[in-house]
Amino acid sequence: MDLRTNLFVAAALAAAAVLVTPTRIAAAEPTGQITIVYDAFGSDAAMKKDWGFSALVEISGKRILFDTGNDADIFAANIKAKNIDLTSIDFVVLSHRHSDHMAGLNHVLSVNPTVKIYAPREGFGIYGSSLPSSFYRKDESLPPEMRYYDGKPPEVMKFGTAWQGANIEPIDKTTEIAPGITLIALVSDAPGTKELKELSLAVNTADGLVLVVGCAHSGIENILEAAKAINPRIRLITGGFHLVAASDEVIAKAVAAFKDTFKVENIAPGHCTGEPTFAALKRAYGDRYLYAGVGTSLPLGPGMGSVGRRGEGPAIQEDDLATYRQLAQREDPFGILRALQQRARLSHL
Ligand SMILES: [Zn+2]
Ligand SMILES: [Zn+2]
Repeated sequence: MDLRTNLFVAAALAAAAVLVTPTRIAAAEPTGQITIVYDAFGSDAAMKKDWGFSALVEISGKRILFDTGNDADIFAANIKAKNIDLTSIDFVVLSHRHSDHMAGLNHVLSVNPTVKIYAPREGFGIYGSSLPSSFYRKDESLPPEMRYYDGKPPEVMKFGTAWQGANIEPIDKTTEIAPGITLIALVSDAPGTKELKELSLAVNTADGLVLVVGCAHSGIENILEAAKAINPRIRLITGGFHLVAASDEVIAKAVAAFKDTFKVENIAPGHCTGEPTFAALKRAYGDRYLYAGVGTSLPLGPGMGSVGRRGEGPAIQEDDLATYRQLAQREDPFGILRALQQRARLSHL
């Protein structure tokens, strides 16, 4: 290479660097917002309040509808009040099979019948499923009229869904469904919802993980643990944390888990989190507690995170924090150890 070629290459490289650098900086400042479409509290007079959850998550160039509320008419009214165009959403996530998260799906399908819907994979469930016909025992000695399918079953047996024709994709295990967008799949072990499967949405940004949970039946701490494996920095969590009837002690331990164990930076609780938990989290998080009543849009830009708030004193009183930590150390925050002990005891029987 002669000198002129060398200079040309150097100039080209410099130009490429100029082109690349701004793109990298832009990527470090995620924008977008989460709009709460359905919940039982709020201050937006244009929105109807009802038990249930739904949020429109606009992030990383995607528009994701997470859950669809408890009543199709209320859901439709709230969608209209917020001017949300359901024909242009990229996909729907149904967190779990409880009706306070799914009842608005009929409205979504009436507007956008082919939209992709991610839902937890259930055995025989409302989302539809299938099994190889080899699962059942055969008895060739029986006459055909006493045999299933006259003795000639299809290779795969399909089981129906409540939304026939809908484009439902069942999710069995934690899956990255688009670059940086992961559905965390967990199973509840709590009495009353044992074996209930639930999906949570985790979006990885340059400023940490944005986490949206439906009801957290599998335990908010288990969800945070799974989220940590994607990115240990959790920038925001919103949704229902399932502490609506929890004791003060359990709430205190949960607050300690959010603050100390997982170091969640911003918190926007809603739905089944519970009134006393709202109060405790507000005390613990101060202005990093983002109000998330129905109709609220949570901005995900740089202003939301820790960037603009560094140097502020802790919002929580030191003695409060000491109590939370003490409580957190004394027992297991979500009855996980107790459940394991019970299981161990049962297995010895
Ligand atoms: Zn539920
Ligand atoms: Zn719920």
